[in-house]
Amino acid sequence: MHGWLGKIIDIDLSKGKITHLPIEPNAKKYLGGRGIASRIYWETVTPESKAFDPENRLIFMTGPLVATGAIAANRLSVVSKSPMANPEGYCYGNMGGFFGAELKKAGFDGIVITGRAPKPVYLLINDGEAEIRDASSLWGHGVYHVGEKLQRIHGDGVRFLTTGVAGEKLVRSGIIFGSHQSTSTAGFGAVMGSKNLKAIVARGSGKPNVADPTGLKELNRYALTLSKRIRLSIPPMITMTNHGHLMEVIGKGGCYQCGMECIKGFYRYGQKLEGYRRCQSMEYYLPWRYNRENEPIETLFDAPTLANDYSICTFELQNIIDWLYACHQEGATTEAETGLPLSKIGKREFLEKILHSIAYREGFGDILAEGLVRAKDKVSPSARRLFSNTIAPIGQNEMAPPRAIMANALLYPMEPRVHQPLIHEISFVRAAWGINRMQPGATPVTNSVFHAIAKAFWGSEEAGNLSSYEGKAQAVKNIQNRTYLKDSLGLCDFAWPICYSFNSPDGVGDPNLEARFFSCVTGMASDELIDCAERICIQQRAILLREGRKIPEADYPPEYNFTQPLQTTSHGQPVMVPGPGDEVVATSGKMLDRGKFKSMLKEYYFLRGWDEATGLPKPETLYNLELDDLAPLFYTGGGEKSA
Ligand code: SF4
Repeated sequence: MHGWLGKIIDIDLSKGKITHLPIEPNAKKYLGGRGIASRIYWETVTPESKAFDPENRLIFMTGPLVATGAIAANRLSVVSKSPMANPEGYCYGNMGGFFGAELKKAGFDGIVITGRAPKPVYLLINDGEAEIRDASSLWGHGVYHVGEKLQRIHGDGVRFLTTGVAGEKLVRSGIIFGSHQSTSTAGFGAVMGSKNLKAIVARGSGKPNVADPTGLKELNRYALTLSKRIRLSIPPMITMTNHGHLMEVIGKGGCYQCGMECIKGFYRYGQKLEGYRRCQSMEYYLPWRYNRENEPIETLFDAPTLANDYSICTFELQNIIDWLYACHQEGATTEAETGLPLSKIGKREFLEKILHSIAYREGFGDILAEGLVRAKDKVSPSARRLFSNTIAPIGQNEMAPPRAIMANALLYPMEPRVHQPLIHEISFVRAAWGINRMQPGATPVTNSVFHAIAKAFWGSEEAGNLSSYEGKAQAVKNIQNRTYLKDSLGLCDFAWPICYSFNSPDGVGDPNLEARFFSCVTGMASDELIDCAERICIQQRAILLREGRKIPEADYPPEYNFTQPLQTTSHGQPVMVPGPGDEVVATSGKMLDRGKFKSMLKEYYFLRGWDEATGLPKPETLYNLELDDLAPLFYTGGGEKSA
């Protein structure tokens, strides 16, 4: 095989048994990553299993492009029953860095873990061999200590995944942390904890075969040239304040075999502190958002590492801290009730206290460790009223509000979590468009380039009129399919797709580039990818349905989108979007129209080959995609359906 190694490690921690699974027959149908991992989940995790039951699977899967030399192809998908989802259910995460590539270099496409070890263990994978080792000396320690210790034992070159105290204590938002500061949310660190699995270490010296190595080199050169875009490195909550000057980017993020422009970077804070940071995690605890203008820069710099060390999701932390701040301001909860120094929110002292309380499940921290959405039932009515629309079980709603960007009205509810890569595709191009409006020429994305991108990537020029309903069903299908493929091939979301470019004649990127990489690496025809994306989409829908999703109701965004006019984004800015032609649309005051949304949803079902009334894939669609085995679920019960 080209691209794949052909083998998945299969581990039962209860029995201490390690065997191998073949990657086929799934590789050709589901590619890898999220695609194969979801298929394995479907076959092995029952709807009745709980997230922390030994029977739950923790599935790590790379993709066929990972470690082949294809640029920015290093992602590792994680799939399991998520304790963070509410109710618990199927979910996925995605990690960059180096671990996925090292796993492939060690000879494996993925790892499936079941059972629960009788005592803390870690897994060592070394050039085709895997063994379970005692982790007593690692248990109870933070991820940075564990990483250093594993590298002392096994050599600097090893790559690792681990979880901190929050994962061990089954905090529902416990993350997996990997070398080079990569993370996966959805509570999968707590699933590791439930299995008494402290870490996975990989070291390898091999590499996958590539069908056309010369073509791959040329394609890499082309992709690198085309990828010249504006660096969206410093997130808005920092740049849009008076404190943006305190931070500067001094280097790239540097995941395995990647030189693309990226939101992950090497930063300098206050001219003295330096470290890798990326995206939301670097801005989840901004002292000045809580009126702490004089808090030392160290607090901001250390906040992500403190959260990582305990392994608590920073999206969840931001939701919690913003809510507690609102409660304290309104007098809806007190320091006595929570045992937390609420009057010190924004200071380091508060952050250290809340992290420790959640990770060790002390006092009110024990309630928060169950997840903010679950805490809602355990707080006073006045505190409950202050839950904002941004709060989601996993991630944050409203960062790119559906009432302003119509495609998101479908993209958000179709998934079991807020999945930023789906939202990024439009958001990154819109950001480049916004920068061009403020500084003409700073990016190539004018209104007309935006519409040309919409036609090339999202199916029609009308899709570029972001707040209208027309063209959005097709745009959603295209964006989902591209995301499912990225997550399954192992391509990084921050690098792909290349929608716009300083180095293309018309400013428009290349919508077929990922498919060309796939053919170059695997030798397979790229037109097979369309069916793979459709299969992955339907497989996920089958899992969600089996676990109780009600359709079509659950395909609608939350009710407030239809009843409350949009004010500003979660960043406090009015939302401006490209309209038709050269128009710019201010979306303040907009709400979704239920009738128009329903028509858009029906069109989406039609485009997918699903029944327009029920949202179920039609029998002929299942047959054409060789998914006949899912038909009983869709047509003889097993899921909650309501026409
Ligand atoms: S684009 Fe950024 S996050 Fe993605 S692989 Fe490259 S360096 Fe890593």
